[in-house]
Amino acid sequence: MSDFIQVIDPGHGGYDPGATANGLREKDLTLKIALYTRDYIYELYEGVKVYLTREKDVFVSLSERAAFANRLNADHFCSIHINAGGGEGFESYIYRGSYSSKSKTQALRNVLHDTIVAETKFKNRGKKEADYAVLRETKMPAVLTENGFIDNKDDADFLKSDANLRKIALAHAHGLAKAHGWKPKANKKPSRPSVGGKVFYRVVAGSFVERENAERRVKELKAKGIESFIDEYRA
Ligand SMILES: [Zn+2]
Repeated sequence: MSDFIQVIDPGHGGYDPGATANGLREKDLTLKIALYTRDYIYELYEGVKVYLTREKDVFVSLSERAAFANRLNADHFCSIHINAGGGEGFESYIYRGSYSSKSKTQALRNVLHDTIVAETKFKNRGKKEADYAVLRETKMPAVLTENGFIDNKDDADFLKSDANLRKIALAHAHGLAKAHGWKPKANKKPSRPSVGGKVFYRVVAGSFVERENAERRVKELKAKGIESFIDEYRA
């Protein structure tokens, strides 16, 4: 089976900064979220190829973004934006009106939308429709996400943290995977040491260069009724 082709479209770029407020520019945030989303998809899933409409701070017209996805014959198009204009939270858009692939487009959007709201805890502004060029001109199911308001103090504070941009990106990766039924990577390394599939937890109560200091810690713990042992390792 051929790979699933996912296009991710970081909104704005170059001389078009998008919305700006609270020391933030939409074009920077959308690019970071898009790049992180691509990283997460490649880290977690197989059978997917991810293409970005831009990978750096350059201007790409709306029609060129859609044409890029059409040329690739992409399976899905996801445009990433940050909102502005006095509001708070997350909303998503699909193309309005009636078209043959609308129910599929809607179903994919619903899964992505619900996953992002659940994982980011953004206030849910709802599932919407609009006549946006990237949604209208793309030939495959397309969605546009508006990830918080840059001119809202609470949303802007959230967006200032790189960890939160990663959280938004991971939510996009999870949501797209769930919507499209992507296969998790089989050979992922376990994140915790395991023996025969069973996970053990080790409590570390100190690390010492001198053995007698370690022995003293064991005595202190024993005096408090806590059994412990010394584990030797080389670093
Ligand atoms: Zn935008």
